[in-house]
Amino acid sequence: DETILELVDLKKHYPVLGGVLRRQVNSVKALDGVSLAIRRGECLGIVGESGCGKTTTAKAVIRLHGATSGAIVFHPKDQDAPVEITHLSPRQLKKKDLRHRLQMVFQDPTTSMNPRMLVKHIIAEPIIEKESLTSVELEARVVALLKLVGLDRSHLYRYPHEFSGGQRQRIAIARAIATNPECLVLDEPTSALDVSVQAQILNLLRGLQKKMGLTYLFVTHHLLVVKYMADRIAVMYLGKIVELAATDDLFENTRHPYTWALLSGIPSTEPDATRQRVLLKGDVPSPLNPPQGCRFHTRCPFAEDICLTTEPPLADMGDGHMVACHRSHETPHLFIQRQTAQ
Ligand code: SF4
Repeated sequence: DETILELVDLKKHYPVLGGVLRRQVNSVKALDGVSLAIRRGECLGIVGESGCGKTTTAKAVIRLHGATSGAIVFHPKDQDAPVEITHLSPRQLKKKDLRHRLQMVFQDPTTSMNPRMLVKHIIAEPIIEKESLTSVELEARVVALLKLVGLDRSHLYRYPHEFSGGQRQRIAIARAIATNPECLVLDEPTSALDVSVQAQILNLLRGLQKKMGLTYLFVTHHLLVVKYMADRIAVMYLGKIVELAATDDLFENTRHPYTWALLSGIPSTEPDATRQRVLLKGDVPSPLNPPQGCRFHTRCPFAEDICLTTEPPLADMGDGHMVACHRSHETPHLFIQRQTAQ
């Protein structure tokens, strides 16, 4: 499989200042060594509770903030050599003809759109940055994009506030695909919408992905949404990936105790389902002082001595199913034992 984006041991630490001299006394480890290869044409989902580092990952990829260390490598379609974009500014990205290839759709389209701009100009803006078109050509392009997202010419000369949340997200998507990108980073793109509208936007995104051969990095806390959208899923906990697998594999052959607990929270549609909700003890520890050893040990029902001292590596269990747990070879049995004991 061809790789489009690689994250190599990516870290993002925010300094915490203290004392009279306002010296750095600690750091928030929002992202603490994430390695990931995103394949061209796939939808890779990233899930986890808030503060796990999923949005930090998305923003680092789109270069909305810098990384503390590690690398982000982009493999553009028609260029032979991969490009390290870790420290490129938006202007440098533009100069290297890369900016328009990576686009982002945010959770709340109202904050990512200028309320005083007409829809036509909102969508046309990224096109103008890339190409010089006549005004007739430009309008035709914008109308074609509106049609792609289920809107039409009658919406050209209106302002964002005249639209519903779902329509605004359609406009944001039209803007994101206006420059024919290779990869879209989607950060909770449907979380602010009503459930019925969510489904429409997800279907639109799936259709566009097929039609345009797009790669998606899809960040969400919503497990059913990610199950519907993603080919593979990475589960994050406290700034690290704890499990990564093909979607069906992750749901059917869960290996990490944290994933197991997360998935147990999904209401089952099967009437005779015996799976019970696993309640984790305590809260997510602070990313200021993540626990030693396995970060999940303070909440894991299966923790052993080694978990308290030694960090488990993210290891391949076969077929690209990656798990970071010392007991991953026996967790399926442990889960069953625990369920029957409850
Ligand atoms: Fe639990 Fe230990 Fe596995 Fe961490 S390494 S998830 S503490 S069993």
